[in-house]
Amino acid sequence: MRVNLTLACTECGERNYITKKNKRNNPERLELKKYCSRDNKMTLHRETK
Ligand SMILES: [Zn+2]
Repeated sequence: MRVNLTLACTECGERNYITKKNKRNNPERLELKKYCSRDNKMTLHRETK
């Protein structure tokens, strides 16, 4: 049930992180505060397909 996903910055759209999640444990779209190198600060990153 583990799927690969990409985390994209919600401010500039840059895809900064690749991770995995367990779809059974986390059926909703992931949102994490992470560092964006383009914005040079912590921004909200959201799961993309
Ligand atoms: Zn960004």
